[in-house]
Amino acid sequence: MKLAVFCGSSPGNNARYAQSAADLGAFMAGKGIDLVFGGGHVGLMGAIADAVLAGGGKVYGVIPESLLDRELGHTGLTQLQVVADMHERKAAMAAMADGFVALPGGPGTMEELFEAWTWAQLGYHDKPCALYNAFGFYDHLLAFIDKMADAGFLKADHANMLMVESSPEGLIQAMEGYKPPASKWS
Ligand code: AMP
Repeated sequence: MKLAVFCGSSPGNNARYAQSAADLGAFMAGKGIDLVFGGGHVGLMGAIADAVLAGGGKVYGVIPESLLDRELGHTGLTQLQVVADMHERKAAMAAMADGFVALPGGPGTMEELFEAWTWAQLGYHDKPCALYNAFGFYDHLLAFIDKMADAGFLKADHANMLMVESSPEGLIQAMEGYKPPASKWS
């Protein structure tokens, strides 16, 4: 299994975020689950990539040429694919991955996760999507997603397609057990 992880290009202002990314990476390596990520060596991206590699796992990075310097393209990966732009990056990551998860991060992380989740709703793919709610980081977003549903902008089936987990064990179990709903659109 290959898991695409979207996460901050920053480390956040508390070391616990990088630690939780590293813990997830170590767990993935132990389970033989490979990492697909944005290819940078900064922030939580670097933390999870280093942890998967340290545990003997495989790591596939995809980075736009223009971000190679800014995100310090990781030089120790199993494979680093340099692509033309952000669209190619997301397409390449999506093609490779068997599932998508967002760890704590900023707007780039949100954009990537929301695309994966939206495309799951539309039936463009059947792969699991999850929020990794480390330390309650996404609690306010989850409240807002409830608001979307309450206000009639999000169907219950679609809301349930976004799984929420806060431990490595729970996340991998949810990913492996995911069954897409029979009807996505209606
Ligand atoms: P951030 O969560 O904002 O730190 O960004 C995390 C990752 O998302 C980094 O690899 C960024 O290169 C990437 N990213 C930033 N902006 C975008 C965007 N508009 N579309 C897709 N990815 C982005």
